[in-house]
Amino acid sequence: DTIGADLDRTVAAYPDRDALVECASGRRWTYAQFADEVNAVALGLLELGVKTGDRVGIWAPNCAEWSFVQYATAKIGAILVNINPAYRVHELEFVLNQAGIRTLVAAPAFKTSDYAAMIEDVRPKCEALTDVVLLGRDSWNDLLGTGRTGDPARLTEIAEGLSADDPINIQYTSGTTGFPKGATLSHHNILNNGFFVGELCGYDEEDRICVPVPFYHCFGMVMGNLAATSHGSCIVIPAPAFDPTATLQAVAAERCTSLYGVPTMFIAELSDPSFETYDLSSLRTGIMAGSPCPVEVMKQVIERMGMTEVAICYGMTETSPVSTQTRAGDSVDRRVSTVGTVHPHLEIKIVDPESGVTVQRGVPGEFCTRGYSVMLGYWDEPEKTAEAIDKARWMHTGDIAVMDADGYVQITGRIKDMVIRGGENVYPREIEEFLYTHPDILDAQVIGAPDEKYGEELMAWIRLRPGAEPITDESLREFCTGRLAHYKIPRYVYLVDEFPMTVTGKIRKVQMREESLDILG
Ligand code: ATP
Ligand code: MG
Repeated sequence: DTIGADLDRTVAAYPDRDALVECASGRRWTYAQFADEVNAVALGLLELGVKTGDRVGIWAPNCAEWSFVQYATAKIGAILVNINPAYRVHELEFVLNQAGIRTLVAAPAFKTSDYAAMIEDVRPKCEALTDVVLLGRDSWNDLLGTGRTGDPARLTEIAEGLSADDPINIQYTSGTTGFPKGATLSHHNILNNGFFVGELCGYDEEDRICVPVPFYHCFGMVMGNLAATSHGSCIVIPAPAFDPTATLQAVAAERCTSLYGVPTMFIAELSDPSFETYDLSSLRTGIMAGSPCPVEVMKQVIERMGMTEVAICYGMTETSPVSTQTRAGDSVDRRVSTVGTVHPHLEIKIVDPESGVTVQRGVPGEFCTRGYSVMLGYWDEPEKTAEAIDKARWMHTGDIAVMDADGYVQITGRIKDMVIRGGENVYPREIEEFLYTHPDILDAQVIGAPDEKYGEELMAWIRLRPGAEPITDESLREFCTGRLAHYKIPRYVYLVDEFPMTVTGKIRKVQMREESLDILG
């Protein structure tokens, strides 16, 4: 079905239920009110001249308007282009031109960034860009104003001409391993995926989902918004950008039943000084995804946050995003050691990256998936699309995984992150898990630094617990000796306060590898 039709069905079923709460402003909308806003934005965009297939960019931190624009563009068949809130002029110009954005909806400013000024800067260099609509300013109010007096029959008429297989969204990948790529996704891709994520979380109209992850990324807009609206659940936005205290506060104040985050967000919440003061007893489930979850963090999320049904999801922007998910009934052990089993209506296989032949259960290889979730392609990049999706429509993810006899999948790393030290393949993940058992280590990331003798040497970037004694190359070696094979023991320790991150909360190992050159001189 189309996203618009699915939303209309939910609105008809639960008009008076909460659809959306924006904690920072205290604003809230029932499904009936939410639909009114969405339809007004859709009609307003039509009035500006936006047509089916046109690209509409959205550049804003999490806010209610982000969601309105998401559903409004879907209703008129325009292609929403999610623009990373952390972008600067150079990247903005790239995405506006790469996607050929016609209408840009943007916050005037965010944190220290003056979005309005940056847009004026690049405007002369972006030919396709016809209108700029600034949230909260006249241009937005005018759009809403004309939209509210528009004729809703126009939307019904357009809906009849839309197909669920039309492109509806361009989402850029996180840029963890290089330059972000624009994945082109259809209604069918993302609506189905959001729906099945919600099914596996057991969502219904009683659920209230706290979404501190960015809407600009699929975690927020698909696993958050679409999972919620396809089940009549409520979306709770704790703050414009991630803030651990605001998130805890939102869960307590809105009695949220579900909470999302990448592992680093849960780490921040669990170590927030005010953690104990919030009543989190409403939490039942949630999703942790995006990067590997340390065992210790998962245990604490279950025990201290009460998220007994919390799920791990694995996926990528190119696959709408989720391919595997743990189930509520899975043992805690399965939920800490695997990313679950295949999602409904999808196929997965693990292949030898060289030969492409499916490997035996228990043997690591490249994770591939096929089915409704595979993107239409990278926007305007047919060569990259052909590299990622083979002729039989299998998406090659670039992730290394192992499947056990029961179909549970473990992600052991990325092909690009694997370290080859003196001919031995080393998966940083395994070493990171081990380092977490060190009492003074809050968070650890292992990379391969270039080395003349071994090709690569292991370097552990470490965030210490507050008040901990510094760890040195020698003291870490001592800790590891006898417990890790000698070639897996990091040669170098580098103490940091923060890791280089993408805005989706992922650690940029490419950048760490580049920096390691300078650090080691
Ligand atoms: P880019 O493709 O631009 O380098 P990216 O791959 O990080 O960036 P995303 O599409 O946001 O961009 O993330 C998908 C990747 O995140 C997956 O390919 C996988 O490496 C990682 N990932 C997602 N979920 C999990 C998980 N549960 N456990 C481990 N890794 C995960
Ligand atoms: Mg990727």
